[in-house]
This record gives sequence, structure tokens and C-alpha cells, in this order.
Amino acid sequence: MGLSQVSASVLLDKSNPYQKFQFIGLINTSSNDNFVTDSGASGTAYATGYRTKNRMISVDENGNELMNIFDVAQKKKKSTGVVVTSSITNATPATFLAHNGSRKEEFAIAEQICRSNTDVLIGAGTDFFLPKNLGGKREDNLNYLDSMSSKGYTIIKDTSKINELSKHKKVFGVFSNVSLPWANKRKFSLGDLTNQAIQILSKDKDGFVLMVEGSQIDWAADKNDKNYLFGELKDFNSAIKTSLEFAERNKNTLVVVLADHDTGSLGLSNQNKDTGEIDVVWATKLHTANFVGIFSYGPSAQIFSGFQKNYEVGRKLQNLIDPLKKWK
Ligand SMILES: [Zn+2]
Repeated sequence: MGLSQVSASVLLDKSNPYQKFQFIGLINTSSNDNFVTDSGASGTAYATGYRTKNRMISVDENGNELMNIFDVAQKKKKSTGVVVTSSITNATPATFLAHNGSRKEEFAIAEQICRSNTDVLIGAGTDFFLPKNLGGKREDNLNYLDSMSSKGYTIIKDTSKINELSKHKKVFGVFSNVSLPWANKRKFSLGDLTNQAIQILSKDKDGFVLMVEGSQIDWAADKNDKNYLFGELKDFNSAIKTSLEFAERNKNTLVVVLADHDTGSLGLSNQNKDTGEIDVVWATKLHTANFVGIFSYGPSAQIFSGFQKNYEVGRKLQNLIDPLKKWK
């Protein structure tokens, strides 16, 4: 979600939530081996406070596990959660939930997620948790949804039961095999899912860390598909609104909105006189090294203003939970 995607969000959605942010900064999203990052390396920078090579998931260049923000939060007895519109095993959520030399190892990542002790998991991904005879794609015949049930998770697969997610303390809402439908083809928003997650996590008096991703903003840009993109941006706005509404009431919650990288180097080239819509041009279908925005609200929001590297943002986030943590 580069700055032009954010610009489109602001121009197209009159009720967009961006003007509520108190501080704005810019992020250099580069990885250790390229100006242009993938989601594994940039997610690792945010989740762990260290840069790594592209395609790696919260491990250093030598494959050593890096402690991520959920590990730090759990040590401080805080609850943790992830809400995404991709598979929960996809690169970005995986950097918060697992450690692996390759983002492609989604079956191994599923097994790690089962052991991660994360309180709230919402997204897609039954393919990676279920064996073939139960509709999944696992070849080892293991059923990790069963394992998670026995660890105390309630598994919810039926999208008509989204409002029931918040009745449970530990929950895995897994609503599709590899990804949720496009935003404009489903009856619930990312904001609805985020609201359920916040209701569960905010019961913890020790606090919580929640990572929400509008995962398909990137995929729409990968396809250079404007209508898909604008639908996903609007859906992501619903999650920002829900989060800010909670933070406004709660007064002790920091909300940070950022992107792991830009995709497409979108140009907003013209307002179409007939339709009022934005005409766009795309420079590429790939990720780019364009800097992305960071928007913050709440306690300590000011530390995210100005110019930062992605791993510095990760360090600031962890140091808010553990001010004594030192960095190599
Ligand atoms: Zn990404």
C-alpha cells in the first residue's frame, strides 16, 4: 500500500479515516539483499526489529530464529492476535506467528502457528491445516485444526458465525482454503473481523497486540486491477475505522497503520470527467522500493513521525512493550 494507494483512499472515500492520525512518517522498506523487499523480509523487520533476506520469515540470514513482537508481548502476559484476508500462513502473518527460512513452507508454518499460543487467529488457510481426505492439501495426513481444538481453540469455519468469534477466548476463524473472497464479493468487512478480535483481546487487563492486514491490496496491485484495488482499500479503511474508534474510547491504545512495501508504483493520472472516477497508470506489476507512509494515533504516536527504516519501526514497537530490550 504505497502512498498513491493511500492517496486514492483519501480521494475516493469521503469518510476515510486518515485525517484522524496525529503523526505521519515515511518508511524505507528495503530488505538486506535488495532495495525492493518481499513481504517476508519486510514483515520480519516489523515483527522482529531486524532486516533479513527476501523470502525469509523471522529468521536472520543464517536461519537463526529472531524473537518477534508476539513473543515479547506474551512474555509480558499480553494477548496477541492476527486478522488477515489471506491465508494465516501467508508471508506477513507468518512473520508474527512463525520462523522459517522460506515463506513457501506454508505446511510447516501451519504447524508452528498451532504451537504459537496466539489467542486470536482470523483469516483463511484450511488447505495448510487439513489433510487431503478432509479437503485440505496436507500430505502428512495430520489434522492441525483438531490439534488446535485440543489446545483450547474454538474453530469457526462458517462465515454466518462471524459475530460469534468474540464469544470465545481462544479462537481460529478460518473462512476459506487459501484466501478470503475479494472485499466487494463478501458480506462481511475486514472491519467486522477486526471488531471481533478487539472485543476478545481487550478483555486482557495486561493489554494486547493485534496485527491486521488488508492482504489483497498487494494482490490487486499485482494484477494492476483498479476496481479490485479500490474495493480492498475501502475494506482496509473499515479496519482502520474500527481500530481508531476503539482507541478513541479506550485512550490507552496505540494504532499504527503502515505497509510492508509498495506494489505497482501506481499513478493517479486524471479524474474522469464523465464518471468522476480516478484514472490510473501502473509502472509495474511487481513490488517497488518506493517509500511507504506510516500513520499513528494514541500514546507514543509521535515516535513514528519522520523518516524511518522498516526495522527501526519494529524496534520502536517492541520497546514500547519492553523498554529494556537491547538491539545488536
Ligand atoms: Zn507484502
